Amino acid sequence: MIEQNKETMGLGPNGECVCHRCGYETRHQAGVPCQEVRCPDCGVKLMRKGGHHHDLAMSRRKPGTAPADQT
Ligand SMILES: [Zn+2]
Repeated sequence: MIEQNKETMGLGPNGECVCHRCGYETRHQAGVPCQEVRCPDCGVKLMRKGGHHHDLAMSRRKPGTAPADQT
């Protein structure tokens, strides 16, 4: 049984950057961190799809609860 390294799985030079707000995805460019790329729609920083921060953002978002502006 081959033990795969989760640290590098899917986090290599190839991958996708995703907007945690609207789900916009773009191809990750080597040498350009996803955090330096912004969603053309929301203007928020993208994060590596499947990465730790992406998981966090996804789990923090409650289904059915739209992130509303606090008034
Ligand atoms: Zn977006």
